[in-house]
Amino acid sequence: MATVEVDQDLCVGDEICAAMEPEIFEMRDDGLAYVVDGQEEVDGDMVAAAREAADACPVDAIIVEE
Ligand code: SF4
Repeated sequence: MATVEVDQDLCVGDEICAAMEPEIFEMRDDGLAYVVDGQEEVDGDMVAAAREAADACPVDAIIVEE
């Protein structure tokens, strides 16, 4: 189990996370990434997926905490 957050103050809207892991991240009308409703806590393979997206984010806007 891990919690997933996006810091919209850091996000630059390049859509990398949403393209990599659309089950966890989505782009909203403001052009920034958000965690999909209901995915604020993830389990199993989704933890690794969230971490991969966090590693790929160029501005470290994705926070994954176990
Ligand atoms: S990868 Fe980072 S900067 Fe890019 S959209 Fe996702 S949170 Fe924003």
